Amino acid sequence: MSDSHASKLDNATRLACPMEGATPELGPPVLLASGRIGRCVDVHAADRSVYVGIKGQLMCAHGEKLKSISGWIRDDTRLPEGAPRARATSFTSVCDCDDVRGLYAKRPHIKPTDWPKQPSSLYDFLENKTEEVVGHDGYRLRFALVNPRGVDVFVNINEKKRCRHGNSATILERHRKRVGPPRGRSKGYPVCGCHSLATPQRQDGVFSYNRK
Ligand SMILES: [Zn+2]
Ligand SMILES: [Zn+2]
Repeated sequence: MSDSHASKLDNATRLACPMEGATPELGPPVLLASGRIGRCVDVHAADRSVYVGIKGQLMCAHGEKLKSISGWIRDDTRLPEGAPRARATSFTSVCDCDDVRGLYAKRPHIKPTDWPKQPSSLYDFLENKTEEVVGHDGYRLRFALVNPRGVDVFVNINEKKRCRHGNSATILERHRKRVGPPRGRSKGYPVCGCHSLATPQRQDGVFSYNRK
């Protein structure tokens, strides 16, 4: 992930948690980088936001749970010194948390009625929350998340995943395999550097079902 992606992600998670310091109010529901919906609960010691998910689980600002993060931290300790982190090369998550403080503590004030709901339409959910662009086909696209390969993933009104230029995963694949300028059915689709629209497929995430 490039620095600009990292800082954008950081900005996104910071914006999503408007309260710095202790407050009993929860933040608005937002889409986290894991594809899970969360509401910000508080900001813990290491200046990391803690979120509650649709099943009441606590998550880091990237939408990952204690168990996953602990596993990655354990894997990282087994790597030779200076080796890239296992999670950075497996492309399963953008999470770089090496601190799980705040994910243990029970939050008795958070009731099931406070848990965010899974949106029936991700496109509608993202309205006025994220960046909007218009793809080459004229479709309005709403930013969903930065995927583990560092590509900005958007969704269109039909709930399909697109890159910011409006290309589908199929078109990106066709561009990648092609030699020479676009011909035939690939013509008219802008050639861009977006190489993957793969999003984390979490059971309790918005991309768990087939949103292509
Ligand atoms: Zn994280
Ligand atoms: Zn693109």
